[in-house]
Amino acid sequence: MKHVIIGTGPAGVVAAETLRKRLPEADITLLGGEPELPYSRMAIPYHLIGKVDEGGTHLRPTAGHFDALRIELRQHIVESIHPDSKALTLVGGDTLTFDKLLLATGSRATRPPIPGMDLPGVVNCWTLADARKIIAGANAGDDVVLMGAGFIGCIILEALALRGVKLTVVEMENRMVPRMMDEKSGGLLKQWCEAKGVRVLTSTRVQSVSEDAGKLVVELSGHEPLKVNLVISATGVQANTDLANGLLDTNYGIIVNERLQTSHPDIFAAGDVAEGKDFSTGSYSVQAIQPTAVEHGYLAAINMSGGKNALHRGSINMNVLDTMGLISASFGLWQGVDGGDAATLDNTARYRYINLQFEGDVLVGANTLGMTQHIGVMRGLIQNRTRLGKWKHKLMDDPTRVMEAYLAHHVP
Ligand SMILES: Cc1cc2nc3c(=O)[nH]c(=O)nc-3n(C[C@H](O)[C@H](O)[C@H](O)COP(=O)(O)OP(=O)(O)OC[C@H]3O[C@@H](n4cnc5c(N)ncnc54)[C@H](O)[C@@H]3O)c2cc1C
Repeated sequence: MKHVIIGTGPAGVVAAETLRKRLPEADITLLGGEPELPYSRMAIPYHLIGKVDEGGTHLRPTAGHFDALRIELRQHIVESIHPDSKALTLVGGDTLTFDKLLLATGSRATRPPIPGMDLPGVVNCWTLADARKIIAGANAGDDVVLMGAGFIGCIILEALALRGVKLTVVEMENRMVPRMMDEKSGGLLKQWCEAKGVRVLTSTRVQSVSEDAGKLVVELSGHEPLKVNLVISATGVQANTDLANGLLDTNYGIIVNERLQTSHPDIFAAGDVAEGKDFSTGSYSVQAIQPTAVEHGYLAAINMSGGKNALHRGSINMNVLDTMGLISASFGLWQGVDGGDAATLDNTARYRYINLQFEGDVLVGANTLGMTQHIGVMRGLIQNRTRLGKWKHKLMDDPTRVMEAYLAHHVP
C-alpha cells in the first residue's frame, strides 16, 4: 500500500508516524512545501527571542528520525492532485501515485486588501522564512506596527516587545483577541499591554502603507500616521484548500466526516486545512490550532490504515495565550448558549477574570485571564460534559471554585 501525505506540519508528521506504527510494511511518503525540516509554527515566538535556534523549532529534532522510520521525506510542492487516477503532480512535473492520500496542507496568513501590503517592509509571521525577516527587520529601538491583535498577533506580541522594539498594535475591533475574549477580558488585556509599554490602538484600521525616505508610513483611521521600520501583518489565516478546490467538497476548509475522510473515499484531510467536527457544537468548522491538528492527524492515519472505530468525536476549540506574562484562555462555547447561565468574577486591579458558561448544569464554555491553575480542570469538565448538579449553584456563587467542582466529580 502506498500512503502519501501532503504537508509536514504537526498533522502530517503525526499521521506519518501513526501509519508506520500500524503498517510496518507500507510505503509512506511525506511531502513538504517548505525548504526546512518539519517544524512547529508554535515555536516561532521562542525563536524570535533567541530562546531556541531554528533547529529548536523542528518537530522531530533527532537526526535521521524519518529515515529510521522508513518514512520518505521529500521537500516538494504538490501542484495538483488527480483523485480519479489516484495520482498527484509535483511542481516540476514529476508524478506520484497513491492508494491513500492525506491532505495536511495547513493554512496561510492572509493580508487585507489595503494599499501598500505588498511592500518589502510588510511581513507576516507564519513561517520560518517570515521569522528570518522579522529577526532582520525588528531590532532594539526600531518602530514596528503589528496589524491585528488576534490569537497569532498576541502570541508574537511578547516576542516583539522582548526584542526591544517600540511597538504599536493596531486592531480594528473594539478589543484585543475578539474571537477569543469578551469585552471585559479583552479590555483588561489591553490595559496590561499598555502598562508594559506597548501602544494598543483598538477600533482602529490601517488604511494604507507607503514608503518615505527608507521608512514605512502607516496611515490609520482616527490617529496620526506612524513612521516605522517594519509592519507585521497578523490579520487572519485561510485554509490551504487549493489542491482540493473543484475536486473535493470544500467550504472554509476541506470538508471531512468523522473518519477525517473527504468526499473521495481514499483521500483524507487533517489539521488547519480540514473543516472537522467541533466538540461543543457538533457542527463542522476550521479550528486552526495545533492540538486539533495533532488529533486529526492521528485519527486520519488510523482510518487510512483500516481502523474501524476511530471516530472523531470533535475537537474542543481551546486557545491558551501568554501575552507578556498574562495568561488568558478560552474554551468551547465561551460566548454562552441561548437560555444558558453565566457566572463571572473579576478583580481588575490584579488582572484576574473568570467567566463560566453553563447549559443546564453542564459547563460548556469558559473565558479566563490570569488564572492558570484552572485551565486543565475547565477543559476536563467541558470535555467530559460533567453534570455538575448542586456544584453548578456553588459555581454560580463563586466561579473560582471550579477546581473543587472538578475534584468532587472526577476523584473517587
Ligand atoms: C507564530 C505562530 C504561533 C502559533 N502558536 C500556536 C499556539 O500557541 N497554540 C496553537 O494551538 N496553535 C498555534 N499556532 C497555530 C498552529 O501552528 C497551527 O494550528 C498548526 O501548525 C497546524 O498544523 P497543520 O499540520 O495543520 O499545518 P501546518 O503546520 O501549517 O503545516 C502545513 C504544511 O503543509 C505544507 N504545504 C501546503 N501546501 C502544500 C503543497 N501544495 N505541497 C506541499 N506541501 C504543502 C506547508 O508548507 C506546511 O509545511 C501558531 C501559529 C503561528 C504561525
